[in-house]
Amino acid sequence: MAKRDYYAILGVSKTATQDEIKKAYRQMALKYHPDRNPGNKEAEEQFKEAAEAYEILSDQDKRHRYDQFGHEGIRGVNHRDFHDVNDIFSAFSDIFGGGFGGGIFDEVFGGTGRGRRGGRTHQGTPGADLKVKLALTLEEIATGVEKKIKVKKQKKCDACNGSGAKTGTGSSACPQCEGTGELRQVSRSMFGQFVNITTCPTCGGEGRVVRDPCSTCHGEGRLPGETTIKVNVPAGVAEGNYIPLQGQGNAGQRGGPPGDLIVLIEEQPHQYFTRSGDDIIYDLNIGFPMAALGGEIEIPTLNGKAKLSVEAGTPAGRLLRMRERGISHLNGYGRGDQLVRINVWVPSKLNSREKELLKELANNEHIVPNEEERHGHSRTFFDKVKDAFS
Ligand SMILES: [Zn+2]
Ligand SMILES: [Zn+2]
Repeated sequence: MAKRDYYAILGVSKTATQDEIKKAYRQMALKYHPDRNPGNKEAEEQFKEAAEAYEILSDQDKRHRYDQFGHEGIRGVNHRDFHDVNDIFSAFSDIFGGGFGGGIFDEVFGGTGRGRRGGRTHQGTPGADLKVKLALTLEEIATGVEKKIKVKKQKKCDACNGSGAKTGTGSSACPQCEGTGELRQVSRSMFGQFVNITTCPTCGGEGRVVRDPCSTCHGEGRLPGETTIKVNVPAGVAEGNYIPLQGQGNAGQRGGPPGDLIVLIEEQPHQYFTRSGDDIIYDLNIGFPMAALGGEIEIPTLNGKAKLSVEAGTPAGRLLRMRERGISHLNGYGRGDQLVRINVWVPSKLNSREKELLKELANNEHIVPNEEERHGHSRTFFDKVKDAFS
């Protein structure tokens, strides 16, 4: 089934603020909550769909990817599949947990939402995201391309398989937090009991400490290295777009999950073409005889040479459109055009024979503009109008 637009699911505009998105999601969640719609499969699906939309749109990075590339852009991005409605509560504890002053939310969501289920995982610190630049030619952008890039990054230590512990020694529960990764401090006041939770400083929240560190990575579970990564660049990307590659960033510390690799697109300047959206612009110099008599000329395009017909009487400045010779659209079908801007070339070196011929031509009735035609305004205006409809 095709995925629906996330903004449409939540009923907000593409420019909606985070507050508006949050508010819209709260309303949807209340309406479609399974407790209020027992046995209603459709409501459950809508509940899950709204949760997924909210997860993407509430995260600035994921929202940006979605805006740029649509559903395609967040495929493979670390986002949960909501099979279990309980996952939804734990994922968005900031919305469901507290802050609503004993209103309907506490009743509906019955406290399941506070904090992530099971607390911290007994895993090391996640690896950082990495950014690399990828320079592409217009030809590569026009059709899409598969590229291999070399990336310097933290890689998992093979000697200890990322655990940071010498083979066979393993780790043991952190003595300070007794393996929970958290330190809890309970205090009482007239409003009731408060629990203050902080990350354990001894194990950094992992809950476990390495007994005998691996000598290769000194207990880090990772080492600096280099790797070659394949990137599939879709057609139609532009300068400043980026492609997220999930799990290809730095390895995590002591078995922690890896970060992502963000590939930033750079557009290389082209020898002949400039880009304008998905169209490309090409400046063509033709001689006066061709401008006056018309003809055919071979010109470069993004995929090889092509013949262009120049109509008799083509003035300088006219824009000729070669349909579907531009860059493929990123979201959707078809591609842009190649626009050929005509310049009439004026020679600067002439031999005596050429001078003779031109002088003779100049004395003819139609070769140079007459008194009326010399004032270019109305003529260029007319051509612009004509171009607009050609
Ligand atoms: Zn190691
Ligand atoms: Zn600890």
